[in-house]
Order: sequence, then structure tokens, then C-alpha cells
Amino acid sequence: MEDLAARLAAVDARIADAARAAGRDPAEITRIVVTKFHPADLVASLYGLGVRDVGENRQQELTAKTAELGRLDGLRWHYIGQAQTNKARAIRDAASVVHSVDRARLADALDAVADDDTPDLDVLIQINLTADPGRGGVTPDGLEKLAEHVEGCRSLQLRGVMAVAPLDEHPAPAFERLAGYAERVRRIAPDATWISAGMTADFAEAIACGATHLRIGSAITGPRPTRG
Ligand SMILES: *Cc1c(COP(=O)(O)O)cnc(C)c1O
Repeated sequence: MEDLAARLAAVDARIADAARAAGRDPAEITRIVVTKFHPADLVASLYGLGVRDVGENRQQELTAKTAELGRLDGLRWHYIGQAQTNKARAIRDAASVVHSVDRARLADALDAVADDDTPDLDVLIQINLTADPGRGGVTPDGLEKLAEHVEGCRSLQLRGVMAVAPLDEHPAPAFERLAGYAERVRRIAPDATWISAGMTADFAEAIACGATHLRIGSAITGPRPTRG
């Protein structure tokens, strides 16, 4: 717990430094702690340290942890993984934000499970910054079409874009492209101002390129347990 608090504080200090170096206000940046593969206890500990945004990338794990922890006032669960349409209801039940909308069919599925009294769901369009379709995300040439589609989904609020840096390229130029894609989405949806980018290895570069939401795992949680 002391180690966790120290790592969290150290990362927050690095975020603040990177923000100031980029001439930005650290307060405009949301740090999401990615807790995947770690037990629900870790989320409870983080909550005790003041963390209110956590990220998960597998629906089953998200569902299990939210069930185990119950309602923690003010805690937002961010879904950051690839999503199957038949898991839309489970994801929507557990998550406040879905970062990984990469196709119209997924947007439709997330929209379709809302009742009249379901709160709107914040969503981001995930963009593939690589040439490898296996890495997830819409290709940039399909961006406007998908943004227009999401805008047409009654119960979804399009908040912005999300991406993961390529493995075979320096993150800075990739995040610069992402900033350009974010601008293209804002021409369609002016309120879609979020840019979800930056992980343990590259959050400073993401901040320099305008990221508003960082998804940081191992630098805060420590190494992930290996999956059995
Ligand atoms: C695991 C994961 C992260 C966090 O990764 P770290 O390198 O541990 O910070 C961020 N984004 C996505 C989509 C992830 O799956």
C-alpha cells in the first residue's frame, strides 16, 4: 500500500512535469489507472488513495470486479479493450466510458441496450495508428463516417478519440497524427475534445501532443500478474 501510494505520487509528479513542459495545466489531464489482471482489492486500495478513474480491457474482468466491489461513490470504470457486440450490455452495465468504439456495429450494440432511463454513455472512437488491422481501431480513412454514425446514436455521447502507440515507431509522431485525427472528429462533433493516449512507456509524449486522458497501468500498479 505504501509502495502503491509512492508509485502513484511519482507518476502524478511526472504527469505534472510533462504538462508544464508542454505549457499545459496538469489539472486538465485525467489519469486513469489501468488495473487489468490485478485483483479487485487493488482497485479498493487505489480508491482509498483518491483514485476515481480506473481502466479495464476485458469485459469479464470488468464485470467481475464491479460486482465484487459494488458501488464506490464517484468511481468511474473506463473500458479500454476490444469489445464484442454481444457483450455490449455487460460493458454498458459496468462502464462509465468506453474508449474502444471502432465500428458502427459496436456503437449500435451499445446504443441498443439502453432503456429510456439509462444514462448516456461517454464513448471515444479508437483509431488504429498502425497498418496492422489486428491492433484494433478504425483506420483513419473511415474516421468521419464512424464519427457521424456515433453522433447519430441517441444514447451515446461522442467525447473524442483514443489510440495506442505503434510498437515499431517512436510515439511522438504517431501521437501527432492522432491530434490531427482528433481535430477531424471535432469538425463533426465540436464537443468531442478528449484524446485518450499515453501509457506507462509514452505518457509524456502523449501529453506533449495534447492527450487529455492517460491510461497508465504498470508504472502505478507494479508488474501485472501473469494470466493463468
Ligand atoms: C494495458 C493497457 C494500458 C496500460 O498499459 P501500461 O503499459 O501498463 O501502462 C493502456 N491502454 C490499454 C488499451 C491497455 O490495454
